[in-house]
Amino acid sequence: MSSECGKLYVVATPIGNLADITFRAIEILKQVDLIAAEDTRHVKMLLQHYGISNKLISLHQHNEDKASAGLLEKLREGLSIALVSDAGTPLLSDPGMPLVKMLKDAGVDVVPVPGACALIAALSASGLPITQFVFEGFSPRTSSARLAFFSERLMRPITWAFYESSHRVQASLQDMAEVLPLDRQIVIARELTKLHETIVKTTLGEALKLVEQDANMRKGEFVVIVDGATIDKKEPIITPEQEKVLSVLLTECSIKTAVALAVEITGVRKKLLYQAALELEKAKDA
Ligand code: SAM
Repeated sequence: MSSECGKLYVVATPIGNLADITFRAIEILKQVDLIAAEDTRHVKMLLQHYGISNKLISLHQHNEDKASAGLLEKLREGLSIALVSDAGTPLLSDPGMPLVKMLKDAGVDVVPVPGACALIAALSASGLPITQFVFEGFSPRTSSARLAFFSERLMRPITWAFYESSHRVQASLQDMAEVLPLDRQIVIARELTKLHETIVKTTLGEALKLVEQDANMRKGEFVVIVDGATIDKKEPIITPEQEKVLSVLLTECSIKTAVALAVEITGVRKKLLYQAALELEKAKDA
């Protein structure tokens, strides 16, 4: 791309505490010709706080494709643009991927301006091993999809994390407790960098109790981090006879019903039967 072409700066903004922004981010937000923001009203509050007045354009999940093409044109005209989301690092469960991909394909410079990110903040204070980890974005919205989601991760040996909303945190932990062992270590990181910041590291069973009993633990924004499975915690697999019972039931009923009946018939724990049922269904589809 020619030297007259502008650059896109991907700028991280605070996830709560307004002081969590870098000097460089403030300079860039002042200097660029245009700021592309997920919610222009939201970012105005941040800009006002730092005495920044700059032109804003909206780029959110419903107009991303069209708005991205317009921004590419402006960059080609030589304008420099900052991309910000409502909180934290853009593209991390936030808009911006189509724009960045389009610019990379077109050879336009994309410059990261790093800073706050709820995932990294939560991991850094979690006390769980994070030499390696997997980030899952948001957990699925429906209970059946969540049960499958957790079952598929039951034996994952490394730490994994996901974003959760206040509306679903309780249901999500309840589903997790259907599938994962209750003694698995998890971290609930809530309202990070804000007044009611809470970071609890405990077992899944205790975390569920806490969220069920304390209404405050269901308020705000959440990152949930789950410890990886260890060899010691490896669950025994079900016997071929038990698998036969389950597979016959699966030909007649939904996974949920088949598992419930199989628990009655075999006496095997629900978690193991769920896992086995999902694997049988997967094998059927393959
Ligand atoms: N791009 C952001 C980042 O860098 O973290 C995340 C945006 S995503 C749309 C919003 C979700 O991030 C929230 O629903 C919550 O799960 C998590 N989150 C954002 N701010 C948080 C905070 N202060 N404390 C805990 N979780 C937070």
